[in-house]
Amino acid sequence: MHLDQQTIAVVMMVFFSSTLIIAAGLVFALRASEAGRLWAFGHVLVSAAGLALGICVASGTGQLGMFGALAFVVGWLLIYHGVRVYYGVPAHSAALVGAGLIVLVLMATTSGTPDGAQLVLRSVYGVLALVSLATLATLARAGRGRRSIGAPLVLVASLVQLATQLAGFSHAMHLPVAGATAGAAAVPLTLFFAGPAGSAWVLAPLIATLLGLFGFTVMAMEQIIAHNESGARMDALTGLLNRGALEMSALSLVARWQRDGQPLACLVIDIDYFKQVNDSFGHHAGDAVLREVAHALDNSRRASDVAGRYGGEEFCVLCPHTDEHQASALANRVLRKVRAIELPAGHGHASVSIGVAQLRGGTGSKEALWRTLFADADRALYHAKAHGRDRYVLASSMAAPLASASPAPLLEPEPDLAR
Ligand code: GH3
Ligand code: MG
Ligand code: MG
Repeated sequence: MHLDQQTIAVVMMVFFSSTLIIAAGLVFALRASEAGRLWAFGHVLVSAAGLALGICVASGTGQLGMFGALAFVVGWLLIYHGVRVYYGVPAHSAALVGAGLIVLVLMATTSGTPDGAQLVLRSVYGVLALVSLATLATLARAGRGRRSIGAPLVLVASLVQLATQLAGFSHAMHLPVAGATAGAAAVPLTLFFAGPAGSAWVLAPLIATLLGLFGFTVMAMEQIIAHNESGARMDALTGLLNRGALEMSALSLVARWQRDGQPLACLVIDIDYFKQVNDSFGHHAGDAVLREVAHALDNSRRASDVAGRYGGEEFCVLCPHTDEHQASALANRVLRKVRAIELPAGHGHASVSIGVAQLRGGTGSKEALWRTLFADADRALYHAKAHGRDRYVLASSMAAPLASASPAPLLEPEPDLAR
């Protein structure tokens, strides 16, 4: 297929005007993701470069060609930077700025010299090929094992991009030097597009840009959705699961219990005299104690246990494959760690009361079973409160629910901690 220059120019102008508008919109739409912002802005530059080149070809002038080449390189460097930010690997910003500066200096010093255009061509294609290779390597290494729809599209786009740049580089190496490029338009046309002007290679960067733009957008959306999902599941103050997420986990653990019959234990944990902590030291100090207790819980549980803030100063830990007595070891660890939390101004230490229950047989729905398990642990918790706080009680050990409780003095846990 051979395309004449005017057709190429029109296709390029229409194509890159469209991607420029889309990319400009994405700068705003993807602002919640740092990588998304970099990708969108990179594509703004790449599209502006393509548009500039199209105008060069249509008007037969080469004045925008240098600007286009620089914008193209900087755009792809930004896109590569975005890939590294996305995967949380060091971005090597100094090296990227250095690559951009080298191209800029080369352009400034060689423009006007007889073989300047060829030098620029070679360096631009060389840098772009390296960037495509580095993008490919980062995607292949950091993205391994992650489920994504966008990343494979970007991988293909980078492969097409790499092939285009390598073909362009070898084409530039074979161009005759010093004025043999007849007319200004011949150089800018090959600035971004490999192969002899007019060949089917012209489509390759368009495909790469479109695939890349779409793939990066999907990746940024995947990141934003994952972030929102984890934010919606997390308690903002403590970083543990919130009540909704905890209950969802509880239902799936109960369903697993129904399938495999392995024991499932539940701890309900309530900070002792917390209202007085707030009243004595202020709400901010209260929040700090809440965070520290949450941290103690998180550090005491096994990886398979699920910990959440049930509400106010009440927490819940679910322990699969754990019976009531095994769960008492966790309760002891939590009690010990919470006692190590100092209250402000030397007013002693924090403490919690814990109710421990195990899911017993039953044929009800998983919702009903979960309500029963929680109610058992909650009743045990109130037993622990009634018997002096700073202790745990096993639901199975209770004869009957206690009607009243005699509170211990403020911030002075009962000396008798025997249980
Ligand atoms: P008990 O030992 O019987 O559990 O006494 P308590 O004072 O801990 O129980 P109470 O239910 O009377 O008080 C709970 C307090 O927890 C009241 C409320 O102001 C406080 N609280 C609930 N949520 C938060 C929060 O997010 N931050 C802070 N600082 N306080 C909270
Ligand atoms: Mg309390
Ligand atoms: Mg409470």
